[in-house]
Amino acid sequence: MAELGIVVDLAATSSGAELSELAQAAERAGLDLVVVAGARDEAGGDEPADELVGVDPWTVATWVAAATTRIAIGVPSSTVQGPDPSDPRIPIAAVVDKARESLALLAGDRLVHDGWVVAPAGADADQVRSLAERGSLVVVVPVGSAAEVERVAALLPERPRSTRRAAVRARRRPGIAYEEIPPSLVESAIEPGDPGYRAVRSTYIRGGSPGLVLRPRSAAEVADALAFARRHRHLPLGIRSAGHGFSGRSTNDGGLVIDVGALSTIEVLDEDARLVRVGPGATWKQVAAALEPHGWALGSGDYGGVGVGGLATAGGIGLLGRAHGLTIDHLRAVSIVLADGTQIRASSHEHPDLFWAVRGAGANFGVVTEFEFEVDEVAEVGWAQLTFVTTDLEAALLTYGEAQRQAPRDTTVFLVTGAPQQGQSVIQLYGMVDSSDPDTIIARLNPFVAIGQLAQQQVVLTSYRAVMGTAADVGLDGHHGSGEPVGRSGFLPAMTPAFAREAAAALRGGRLRWFQLRAMGGAIADVPPEETAFSYRSPELQVTALGAFHAEIDEAWEPMEAHMDGLYLSFDTSPDPDRVERAFPPAVLTRLRELKRRYDPDGLFRDNFPLLEGARA
Ligand SMILES: Cc1cc2nc3c(=O)[nH]c(=O)nc-3n(C[C@H](O)[C@H](O)[C@H](O)COP(=O)(O)OP(=O)(O)OC[C@H]3O[C@@H](n4cnc5c(N)ncnc54)[C@H](O)[C@@H]3O)c2cc1C
Repeated sequence: MAELGIVVDLAATSSGAELSELAQAAERAGLDLVVVAGARDEAGGDEPADELVGVDPWTVATWVAAATTRIAIGVPSSTVQGPDPSDPRIPIAAVVDKARESLALLAGDRLVHDGWVVAPAGADADQVRSLAERGSLVVVVPVGSAAEVERVAALLPERPRSTRRAAVRARRRPGIAYEEIPPSLVESAIEPGDPGYRAVRSTYIRGGSPGLVLRPRSAAEVADALAFARRHRHLPLGIRSAGHGFSGRSTNDGGLVIDVGALSTIEVLDEDARLVRVGPGATWKQVAAALEPHGWALGSGDYGGVGVGGLATAGGIGLLGRAHGLTIDHLRAVSIVLADGTQIRASSHEHPDLFWAVRGAGANFGVVTEFEFEVDEVAEVGWAQLTFVTTDLEAALLTYGEAQRQAPRDTTVFLVTGAPQQGQSVIQLYGMVDSSDPDTIIARLNPFVAIGQLAQQQVVLTSYRAVMGTAADVGLDGHHGSGEPVGRSGFLPAMTPAFAREAAAALRGGRLRWFQLRAMGGAIADVPPEETAFSYRSPELQVTALGAFHAEIDEAWEPMEAHMDGLYLSFDTSPDPDRVERAFPPAVLTRLRELKRRYDPDGLFRDNFPLLEGARA
């Protein structure tokens, strides 16, 4: 059904007060658009009437915008560019541009330039309906008085009221019942034609064009969003916390996104027990900043911009990993909204099976709205960034593997490299020593120095907060990732000559653009594997590679994978649905699938790694 509006003819309107009254009457009557038209625009006649030369439509439209709050304001596009710039009665183009830009800034998306059709003055309901049926999104009727406005508003009493104007609705995606968005989410929802869309469409790493982004601000609103999602099972569904997902599809094309970024509160629950509650939308940079004043830290990943929601449902292999374990090892309880909208708390004694599943496979079981963590006392730490060059990549990998294996558990050092150039590899090590003693820090790092020629080094005594704080803040303009990441991940039980040989060959082949080894062991291995769905606790290393194309990376990855056991889903983007079979040992996968059938039998949460076969949208 079309929207309905009025045209006010400047030639027939005697004062600014009268114009405002007409616009306000239209807004009160629930009409959608007031078009400000000169004689040559909408009211007929090719030439501007002399008496209109002094009345600038932009000024009038600004006047109308200031007098109203909701109704859209139309200024015909013919007003944007005059037909004959040499005509002295036509305003100077640059001045018009400035006026248009200023009004667009002030009135935002209320300002439109086209998309309506003008009905004859005095048009009746049949005439309006017939114009609407011919595909016009907005029908406007010329009016000269408040009484006429009332008459227009009464023409289509059965007209459903849309929350968006025609120009926005024109960009809607098929298959989404936009008019049925739950009332609690209508105000904050963003759809493709909305001004805020650019800031929410993509993620840190992926470009996307979702058909609707719902932005709940409470667990109850998450339940509302999931009710809407259940009615849209035919569409992809992305769950987004802070938008740094590799494997997780927290954006999509034409589907729904439930963005819980607004749930970002961080609060201390119990100072003595070091218990904190954190919302999924907080970033690890924010968490680190909130904990530091207490002398605490919570090991997360290596980048402070990553969100709590995605990482704390998957694992969290980070720079304090060997000293303090995975992020999920600090989890004491979660509040989660299940696929059917039920809000429950899971902990070691409340729904313990769900609590087990959330710690490693959380994305498949619901939307976590609160995480409760027991955090660690962490003073200043040693933070090292070292760059090496070497012509013997294989030997360097072996030396790193040995150094990290021998390192005391207070030391977690990661390695990154790429394809060698003219036979020479540049290798970066970055790592953390959980000690405030400079001599200890240097002693811990010394064995790593043998991996090549040290080209650059920076070792500082600093806080975990400062390390996380180097991540860029995402401003109001949001993420602007593009394309699809191509990544593979695996757990390596231990560095061996055979693996080092395969990895060096793959890197020399140029098909791996980025290659990383993350040190595990230490406190990560202290937790019995059956305690959490994240099961691969004994490997010494986690390996990640990024490439450009799936086929290309698979060719390079397969020989290396023969040496690995399991994979970390957070870094794997393979489209192969069987990949999930590698992510969990068979018994764990069987248990996860049983729980999935209990908690999400229809597979609503399937766009990360689908536990149930054939489930990915
Ligand atoms: C630059 C960078 C550095 C990284 N470093 C590390 C690291 O050091 N260690 C590590 O372990 N990982 C690391 N990761 C991987 C990261 O942990 C995952 O990509 C994680 O999913 C990102 O979380 P997010 O909330 O920002 O992502 P989002 O894109 O918002 O979410 C990713 C997926 O997580 C799931 N999800 C999100 N929120 C929720 C929720 N509230 N409830 C249930 N499921 C949810 C959804 O399936 C979603 O698709 C890194 C990623 C990047 C981009």
